[in-house]
This record gives sequence, C-alpha cells and structure tokens, in this order.
Amino acid sequence: MIIRTAEFHVSNSDPAKCPEPVKPEYAFIGRSNVGKSSLINMLLERKNLARTSATPGKTRLINHFIINAEWYLVDLPGYGYARISKKEREKWELMIRKYFLKRPNLVNTFILVDARIEPKKADIEFINWFGQEQLPFSVVFTKADKLTANQLASNVADFKAKLSETWEELPSTVITSAETGEGRGELLSLISKGNEA
Ligand code: GDP
Repeated sequence: MIIRTAEFHVSNSDPAKCPEPVKPEYAFIGRSNVGKSSLINMLLERKNLARTSATPGKTRLINHFIINAEWYLVDLPGYGYARISKKEREKWELMIRKYFLKRPNLVNTFILVDARIEPKKADIEFINWFGQEQLPFSVVFTKADKLTANQLASNVADFKAKLSETWEELPSTVITSAETGEGRGELLSLISKGNEA
C-alpha cells in the first residue's frame, strides 16, 4: 500500500462521538513510551503526525486519522502510566471498553509491546481482556533495532510462552522498528488485506 494522504481527523473523549463507522478502522494501543507515536509516524511516513504527550497520562483522547481517504488509523491513549490516579485509570477503562465493544468497523487492533523487556503485567492483562472479549488483534513488538537477533528471538519466545499459559491459540505477531522501518511492509499488508475483506 502506498500512503498517498494521511491527515488528522478528530479527537474524542466520548467513544459515541467517534466518526460514523463507515470506513475500516485499525487501532494502535500500548503502554506509555512503547514507541506508538514513532511507529505510527514510520508507518505513515510522516514526521510528526502522531505526537507523544509531554506529560504522560494527559493525552486521554481517541485520535482518528484518515488515510488515503479510505481507512481510519486510531491512536488510543495508552495504559500502564505509573503516576496516574485511580480515578483517571477508571475513566480510561470506561472509555476504552466503550470504544472497543461498540466499534463495528474496527478490523484489527495492534497491541504494541516493547521488544526489549519481559512481559509486563499491564500488557498481559490487556491482551487477556481482548482475548476474553474475542476482539481481533495482533501483537506488535517495537524497538527491534535495540536488540541482537538472538535477544529478539528469545524475548519474543518468552512473550509467546507467557500467553500460552492462558491461550491455546496465539495472536499473529509483527516485529518492528521505527528506526529502521522494519515491519512496515508487513503491517501495511495486514491492513490492505483487512480493507479488502
Ligand atoms: P509513545 O509514548 O508510545 O508514543 O512512544 P514514543 O514514540 O514517543 O517513543 C518513546 C521513546 O522510544 C522515544 O525516545 C523514541 O525515540 C524511542 N523509540 C520509539 N520507537 C523506537 C524504535 O523503533 N527504535 C528505537 N531505538 N527507539 C525508539
């Protein structure tokens, strides 16, 4: 897929106000600092389209981007902020639940995990919730350039082993680097296939 146009469309705190669900949609989510903005910018070949908030936890909005006037990329607020209050966390949970459970045009969600670190509780909990709700998703490993091939293979295997404790069927995985562009073609081809289906 060639990215001809990529534009910011709208931000919402209320999932009910998201755009009419008439175009296929792909969501991106992960722990704070996982490399989500970098990955989205790499994918769309735009420098600053997706921006990291200077204050983690402050950007609690659902951000829709329209790509090639054809599909939506959705940048969702992340989880796992250390300094977030209980009240804020509950607000996030409510918003995220409402979004994921009521979005008929959502084709796939890319759940980002940092390839460098061991499976984190917040990631596993989020993935398990997704599985329980039978929502489609892929696990995207970020920052692959920071590891040797052996370290990467070992971390990916550890992550899959952790998921195997709960799930018989494992999700598809994509290894990426915003630095080298690794995984870009694979992600875009998953999106193309989803758009055709
Ligand atoms: P976000 O909070 O999930 O949106 O994360 P950012 O995209 O802002 O990235 C967090 C930090 O990780 C920044 O310092 C990025 O430069 C760095 N980073 C993100 N992706 C990569 C990557 O693929 N490779 C390397 N080496 N660093 C990355």
